[in-house]
Amino acid sequence: MERQRRTPGRVKEVTSLSNPLVKEIKALALKKYRDRARAFMAEGLKLVLDALDAGWTIRTMVYAKAGRGNAAVEKAAARTVAAGGLVLEVSEKVLCAITRRDNPQMVVGVFEQRYCPLADLRPVRGDVWVALDRVRDPGNLGTIMRTVDAVGARGVILVGECTDPFSLETVRATMGSLFCVPLARAEQQAFLDWRRTFPGLVVGTHLEGAVDYRSVDYTAGPVLLVMGNEQQGLAAPLAQSCDRLVRIPQAGRADSLNLAVATGVMLYEIRRAALPVVPEA
Ligand code: SAM
Repeated sequence: MERQRRTPGRVKEVTSLSNPLVKEIKALALKKYRDRARAFMAEGLKLVLDALDAGWTIRTMVYAKAGRGNAAVEKAAARTVAAGGLVLEVSEKVLCAITRRDNPQMVVGVFEQRYCPLADLRPVRGDVWVALDRVRDPGNLGTIMRTVDAVGARGVILVGECTDPFSLETVRATMGSLFCVPLARAEQQAFLDWRRTFPGLVVGTHLEGAVDYRSVDYTAGPVLLVMGNEQQGLAAPLAQSCDRLVRIPQAGRADSLNLAVATGVMLYEIRRAALPVVPEA
């Protein structure tokens, strides 16, 4: 789906599943095609508008015929054309095939993937970055990105072999936060090298952590929160690189918390002083 292979800035009507443009978009459900095209799909008009507002580059906007005449859909289409993207008006059947859903959203956007180079991150006091060691579950990753957004943390660093943040499942689980949470990625060694330059507290979470997560002062500088893999926990070199290894106490029979839940608990504690108090009704 490279730009030069298409004619941007035009609206095309497509009804056939064998149309090459439709085939290319459909293929984005698979990681190898997403990687090759460096693109991904976002479903829903709100998400497409959020992504455009956040400055993401749209390649193609696809909408169902039923969206013709809908002011918001037409506005999104006009913005896509203005940005040099292609707009496809498709049949319901085509939209179902693209999204692999029986009741698809009326609009789908194809956007360019985006990562921040690790070297460009310049953490300052008040910043919280979350590093995820080999996160595997797309729902966990999406939920963590949504939580990072909700608490006002700065972004997420994917360490080692992680699930694809641009899969349909992850994008869905972020509920749009993908478009405002910077993402970086690094192999373990590159991350460890970068970590040495981190100017604040590096906190790992570990089931054998010796420190209660509520007893740490997170306010002195930027914080890097390091979370372990769902099955294997935190890799030893990452655990050794942390200033503190904290534990979230548990009272019941569960061995551990779900990764996204543990990240949420940590982020709310780390950001406690920074978050506004809800006024009493
Ligand atoms: N079997 C894994 C292990 O031995 O670590 C469980 C991993 S847990 C599902 C995924 C990650 O969530 C952990 O690596 C840790 O980062 C975090 N986590 C979950 N529960 C935690 C707890 N009670 N205290 C500290 N971290 C926790």
